Formats: sequence, structure tokens, C-alpha cells
Amino acid sequence: MTANTRNIVILGGSYAGLSVAHYFLKHILPSLPKTFKDYHVYLIDPSTHFYHRVAAPRASVSFDLMPITKTFYDISNNFKGYKPEDFTFLRGKATGLDTTRRTVTIQHTGLDKCKETELPYHALILATGTKAHLPILSLQGGGHEEVLEALSDLHDKLACAKSIIVGGGGPSGVELAGEIGEFVNGTTRWFKQKPTRPKTQVILLCGSKKLLPVLRPALAKQAEAYLARVGVSVKYSSRIESTEKLGDGHTKLNLGNGETLVSDLYLPATGVTPMTEYIPYELLDDRGYVKTNQETLRVDEAGLRVYAIGDVGNHSRGGILDIYEAIPVLMTNLQRDLLAAHEDVNTKPTGDDRKYKKNASETQLVPIGRSKGVGAFNGNRLPTLMVHMIKGRDYLSSAAVEIVTGTKWNKQSGWKPTDGCLSGSEGEKEMLIAGTYRANR
Ligand SMILES: Cc1cc2nc3c(=O)[nH]c(=O)nc-3n(C[C@H](O)[C@H](O)[C@H](O)COP(=O)(O)OP(=O)(O)OC[C@H]3O[C@@H](n4cnc5c(N)ncnc54)[C@H](O)[C@@H]3O)c2cc1C
Repeated sequence: MTANTRNIVILGGSYAGLSVAHYFLKHILPSLPKTFKDYHVYLIDPSTHFYHRVAAPRASVSFDLMPITKTFYDISNNFKGYKPEDFTFLRGKATGLDTTRRTVTIQHTGLDKCKETELPYHALILATGTKAHLPILSLQGGGHEEVLEALSDLHDKLACAKSIIVGGGGPSGVELAGEIGEFVNGTTRWFKQKPTRPKTQVILLCGSKKLLPVLRPALAKQAEAYLARVGVSVKYSSRIESTEKLGDGHTKLNLGNGETLVSDLYLPATGVTPMTEYIPYELLDDRGYVKTNQETLRVDEAGLRVYAIGDVGNHSRGGILDIYEAIPVLMTNLQRDLLAAHEDVNTKPTGDDRKYKKNASETQLVPIGRSKGVGAFNGNRLPTLMVHMIKGRDYLSSAAVEIVTGTKWNKQSGWKPTDGCLSGSEGEKEMLIAGTYRANR
């Protein structure tokens, strides 16, 4: 690297950050002028491994049913094909962002964990996502070893628990309860509605009167029936106010309606928190998400060439599909910005930007156990077999491979300023591949 090197810094090495890194190295870097300046990509994440968290519900019951090789992927190994002068994977956590000096502070988390680096950026991509309360459902801002440990610990606890409560009526809660129910209780034959004597009591607590807010009531009812088949009962209007760990190891849950429940094991799958602690307060909305330009994906208030993508941005409803739709937009606008600023860092591009458009359709796939599921795509109900084939079979493991290896982005997405967003057919194809999930923020 020389004094002329311009750093393209990507914070977060998950679905969004990995996609940005591969796309940039494959398509944008070769398109930039070779005169005077070198560009170098830094991908930063505290975890050496990408966690395919979509598969968490099945991984939470057994590594035989969802092998570690399908849930954790070594990041460095998947970037070996790029030149060292173009790319560095840095194991560390962003702890500060100075938009005036245009630097990020990185606390190293590998062997050199006492080291801190001030890394200047020419362009910065924020892709640090969200964390779930339950450490099996996401990385927590540390290494993947913590998730592995939490999964193993849960496997041990499931073997002994006689009563389990899962909190949260969204897709994570329903999928988790369905996998656990089938694992501990098996499933009924088709003519029976629920197991006669389930081995373990499994309750799913739903804060509202309906499961799966993104889907229509009939699909939510269908989900309840599929949960019953694996011995899971749903308790509605049961918002959890507080929990207490009792001396005998049980957990006591105090519900908003005054009721209390006691269980061997409590698993909260009740929403997520954006991982934005390192970002100045004024760049965040009142829920802690990055204030992102809803069309260009730039973070306008952070100065030139700063962008947000994935779950961390407030443009997004969450989900991999959203990332698939956002990547071509962000990469086109980043390329335009870099080309304009090649000679003079303060020059902005002229003409139209590529525009992102939020997809607000009824679109979500929710497997329930190992053979059933409910879902809709663009407002059309999907049969249970299709939900199983697209997502329930292996929880989109092939999509994870495509993202981490970069093959997902082998082709550059063409665009002319008049093109606008993804065309209908292109967008629809992407949705099916993404498992048509809509997170429920
Ligand atoms: C159970 C479950 C099932 C799901 N099913 C689907 C589905 O079927 N389809 C779908 O589209 N979506 C699904 N989702 C949602 C999907 O997982 C998210 O939309 C996706 O993870 C968002 O990706 P991301 O790259 O934005 O962020 P994340 O996946 O949240 O990753 C953030 C990354 O940033 C890193 N990081 C955090 N803090 C820092 C820091 N300070 N510095 C550097 N790095 C940092 C983390 O280590 C992590 O690698 C599911 C989620 C769950 C929990």
C-alpha cells in the first residue's frame, strides 16, 4: 500500500458485507482508473466465520440435522482468490466512527486483541446488522465460537427439559418452536391434530392476538395448526414483562396480563437490536438504526461516500432479499461516487443515481418443523410443500454458500440511468432464491 491508497472500508462480514466485498472486488475495482490512485478493500468483522443465522432454528436442536459446515463459513478462505494488494480481512470490531477525520477505530479481536487501529476511509459501508437476544440466533458482536458454544449448551438442555417456553410470535419464534417441538415430541400422522402425550411441554408465547404479523390471518392460523402437530401450543396476548431465574434453575415469566409461568427453559425470540454502538448518535434514528437515504442508500449526514446496507439501515425491512435488491443499487452509486472523486475527493457525480425501492408485499416463508411451513410470495399464498422445498429442506444453505464464496455476484447487474429498480421478473426470481423472508421490525 502507498500514500496514494484509498481505503474502501466495509464494517460487518455477514450477508450484506460479504456481498459488498465480493461485488466490489469483482466488478467495481476493475472499472476504476489505474492512474495515480490504488484502492484497497478492508472487510472488518470480529468473527473469523460468517454465521448463516437463517439456519439457527434447526441448528438449535442438533448438529446432525443442521451440520456446522452448513452454518459457519471461514471468511478468509473465501477471499483467497483476490490479490493481497487489493483486499484485507481484518478480525476486529469497529468501536468508533469520526466522520470529520474520516476514520474508524478498530479494536482487534484476534491474536493481537490489545491492538487498536485508526483506519482512514475513502468510502465506508456500514453493514453491522442486528443482534438477537438469544445468542443462538445471531452473532453478538464477538466471535462465532460464542454461537457454537450457545448451540451446544442448548442441545444439552433440550435433552433434559420437561417444559420449554419460546417467546415471540414472529418468524424466528415460530420457526424455533416448530423445530424444537418436532425434535422433542416428533410429529403426528396426518389425520391427528396433535400428539396424544407430548414428551415435553412446549409453549409459544405471542404478544398479540395473531402469529406472524407479515402474513394474513389464515396463514397465521395454519401455522398454529402445524405447531400443534409437533406438540407446541400457542398462548396469545401474552406479552412478557419480566423474567426471573429461580434458585432451582427454572425460569419464572411475568406476563403483562398478570399471569406467571414457570418453565425449565425459556428462549426469547422477541426482536433484534441494531449493532450500531460505534456510530455517532446523530446518524441514528430513534430506534438505533442508521438514517439511510431511502433511495440512494447513502448516509447523507455522514459526509461523502458513506453508505448503509442490510438490517442496520433504516431503509430496510430486513431480510436477505432486501440485501439482494439493495446491492446493485449501492454498488452502482458507489462506483459513480468513486469515479467522480477520482481526481478531486470533493467532487460528486452528476446525473441520476440508481434508486432503491422498498418491497412491502406480503412475502415471507416460515418452515414449521422438518416437513411443513406457511408462506406467501408477493401476496400469493404458497403451498406448504413449496415452503418446505424452498426453505424448510435446508434453510437456504445454498444461498449462504453463494454469498460467502461470492458466486452470487459473478455477474454485474447492468443499469442505465433510466432503468430505475429491478425489473419485475428479475426481482421475482431474486425473491424466490432469497426464501422470501420479510423480517418483522
Ligand atoms: C431465525 C432467523 C431466520 C431468518 N430467516 C430468513 C430468511 O429465510 N430469509 C431472509 O431473507 N432473512 C432471514 N432472516 C433475516 C436475516 O438473517 C437478516 O436479514 C440478515 O442476517 C441481515 O444480514 P446483515 O449482513 O445485514 O447483518 P447480520 O447478519 O446481522 O450481520 C452483522 C455482521 O456485522 C458484524 N458486526 C457487528 N458489530 C460490528 C462492529 N462493531 N464492527 C464490525 N463488525 C460488526 C457481526 O459480527 C456480523 O457478522 C432470518 C433471521 C433469523 C434470526
